[in-house]
Amino acid sequence: MKTWHGGCHCGALGFEFRTALPPATWPVRACQCSFCLKHSGVYTSDPSGSVRFTHQEPQLLSRYRFGHKTADFVFCGRCGWYLGAVAEEGGETLMVVNLRAFDPQPEGLPAAQPMSYEGESGDARNSRRASRWTPVSDS
Ligand SMILES: [Zn+2]
Repeated sequence: MKTWHGGCHCGALGFEFRTALPPATWPVRACQCSFCLKHSGVYTSDPSGSVRFTHQEPQLLSRYRFGHKTADFVFCGRCGWYLGAVAEEGGETLMVVNLRAFDPQPEGLPAAQPMSYEGESGDARNSRRASRWTPVSDS
C-alpha cells in the first residue's frame, strides 16, 4: 500500500488515500452533474484501499447535499476547497476523493472519463458506491 496525501488549500483539512494501485491504473471519473462541473470534481477511489482524515481544524469541515441527498460533498469552510464526496452504505462510510485536492498531484494518471449517473435507480447507486468507493477508516 502506498499513501497519497491531499487536503484543502489553507491546510485546515486533509486526508490520506491508501492504495496498492499505481496511479496509471486508477479510475479517473469526471462526473457530469451540475455540482461536479461547477467544482471541477474529478474523482478516484479504490474499494480495496482506504481513506483516513487528517484534519488540523475539523470544525471547518462543511458539508453540502443536493439532488438525492444520499451523499455529502465535503469542503473547507475557510478556503472553500472541495475534497470529495462521502456516503454511508451498509454501515460503512465510503468516499470518492477529488483528485484536484491531491498534493502533490499523482503522475501518470489516465485521462478523465466523463460519467453521467442521471436516471440511475437508488439500488443501482447504492451498489455502485459499495463496489467502487473507498472505505473511510479511523486509523
Ligand atoms: Zn481550507
